[in-house]
Amino acid sequence: MVSRVASSDELQVRFWGIRGSTCASGPQFMEFGGHTACVEIRCGERLFIVDAGTGIAALGSALGENVPDTIDILFSHLHLDHVGGLPFFKPALTKERLVRTYCGNLDGDSAMDSLDKLFSPPLFPVRLSQFPARFEHVGFKAGEILTFDDGTAVETHSLNHPGGATGYRFRHGCRSVCYISDVEHTEAWPDEALADFVRGADLMIYDGMFSEAEYPRCRGWGHSTWEKGVDLARAAGVKAVAIFHLYPGHDDACLRALEAEMQAVMPTAFIARERQSLTLDASGGEAVADWYRAAKVPAV
Ligand SMILES: [Zn+2]
Ligand SMILES: [Zn+2]
Repeated sequence: MVSRVASSDELQVRFWGIRGSTCASGPQFMEFGGHTACVEIRCGERLFIVDAGTGIAALGSALGENVPDTIDILFSHLHLDHVGGLPFFKPALTKERLVRTYCGNLDGDSAMDSLDKLFSPPLFPVRLSQFPARFEHVGFKAGEILTFDDGTAVETHSLNHPGGATGYRFRHGCRSVCYISDVEHTEAWPDEALADFVRGADLMIYDGMFSEAEYPRCRGWGHSTWEKGVDLARAAGVKAVAIFHLYPGHDDACLRALEAEMQAVMPTAFIARERQSLTLDASGGEAVADWYRAAKVPAV
């Protein structure tokens, strides 16, 4: 059940947690899933993990023995739905290895102090520093380009969210994927700087927690709508959109209806499903539609 390791020219995305705010559970949530934010991104064989919501536990189990000695976890920000799964990430519990976290919304400070506060008694029985893995916490300012030991670079962008959040753009070969969560759209939309950041991407993972009909009640909460995601994608020439950070009250029937509405406007937009896996190969062009169709069948 482990996703196959991508060949060197592929960019692979797998959703392990797609909910925002808190988990959803029950028979009415089986299709889209219930865990909070966690996405596996493979640039060839190179693993990146974006956010450590509760979905990261299943990712850790699925990795099995196929775990690099150094694991990079990129946080959008540190709200609970993006960090709560971290102590349940098996590779950090089983072996001495390096887990590096990256946080870009604390004015250059790392996640260390915040995570120490959260994962210590009486809130949590043990500290991350007591784990077999060694944690290293890296702080940066959203907007900077992250460069890793192996020369890989990931672009970042500051997002409009209470306390700030960081968007990421992964490029590999001729493909690119953007992760834009958590974000609230602005009055003037699409935001020009954000449109520049995501321009021409093959896939944009976008915070579409609400619909436009629901949004007036949720204004100022730091989240957006699928409609604004589609507007941004169209303005910036983004080829496909995965709506993400799903409202925990939206069950399968509701999300299927929203997806149908959305696809009437943009056929390559869809709502992310837990464990759904997408492969973007090096061929470009028409392949986008091919991997999109493949993605409609959840790989479990
Ligand atoms: Zn969130
Ligand atoms: Zn948040």
